Amino acid sequence: MSKIISGKEVSAQVREQVRKECEELKAKGVDPGLAVIIVGDDPASRVYVNNKKKACADVGFVSEEYALPAETTQEELLALIDTLNSKPSVNGILCQLPLPEHLDEKAVINAISPLKDVDAFHPSNVGRIMIGDYHFLPCTPAGVMELIHSAGIEVSGKSCVVIGRSNIVGKPMAMLLLHENGTVTICHSRTKNLTEICREADILVAAVGRPKFVTGDMVKEGAAVLDVGINRDENGKLCGDVDFESVEPKAGFITPVPGGVGPMTIAMLMKNTLKAAKLQNGMD
Ligand code: NAD
Repeated sequence: MSKIISGKEVSAQVREQVRKECEELKAKGVDPGLAVIIVGDDPASRVYVNNKKKACADVGFVSEEYALPAETTQEELLALIDTLNSKPSVNGILCQLPLPEHLDEKAVINAISPLKDVDAFHPSNVGRIMIGDYHFLPCTPAGVMELIHSAGIEVSGKSCVVIGRSNIVGKPMAMLLLHENGTVTICHSRTKNLTEICREADILVAAVGRPKFVTGDMVKEGAAVLDVGINRDENGKLCGDVDFESVEPKAGFITPVPGGVGPMTIAMLMKNTLKAAKLQNGMD
């Protein structure tokens, strides 16, 4: 078993499985479809949306892009979501965040039908995750869990530390580890003794958004270290929240950046879209 967990390899396996199931659905007359909304011209959002469209084509889904100008009003955006909510050929709706400042992100998330909410950001889906009775899991934390499983890492009874408490990564990540009986600590910007807490972790997930934040001295010998961060270092090179160079020699398992959690996020989005198509056609 390799110590480096390859998100490239595991995501390819997830996508292959989705591709296979998509063919089976098509044979039954169901053609899964994802609608992607992008407002404005943020270059990073454009890259993410393009990657999502490519992934759809790769697994056999229909994708529709709704590229709206930056000055789109709240009413116009909500009206589009309303239309997509009742459009049968659209199984999943994704509104690329962040939105321009004049738009109310919460209201937009709330407007997407929970059954089409393939990002799993709607409060109803968040609540379902809390009680362990869910349709969809948020893509990034679900991708991390898939990597943990693929490496054969047992979560039950382990000390798990999540650095970061965002609604889209840190909090749901902690909940998924808890569902698998990990003993979970959530650390954040006000945490005291961060290094000491991290050093106790058997499983350490970094979702901080700071380049190379987790260093070798913060990691227990043999720990599994999962790096969610996508940052640029001082030379403009892509890097994670983990200082790979100093952590890799100590870790039992580690995910690289790029090629770790990143590709998993999109693979899990495909999985959620497939699930949405099944749910809406009474097949799940
Ligand atoms: P965020 O900014 O919403 O949250 C960052 C969290 O880190 C906060 O909860 C904050 O309390 C914590 N934090 C900040 N400084 C800290 C410190 N000094 N000590 C301890 N905790 C600290 O970010 P996010 O949306 O959760 O994303 C985190 C990272 O993951 C970013 O690099 C983002 O680009 C990346 N990300 C990657 C994917 C992917 O697909 N791989 C998806 C989403 C986010």
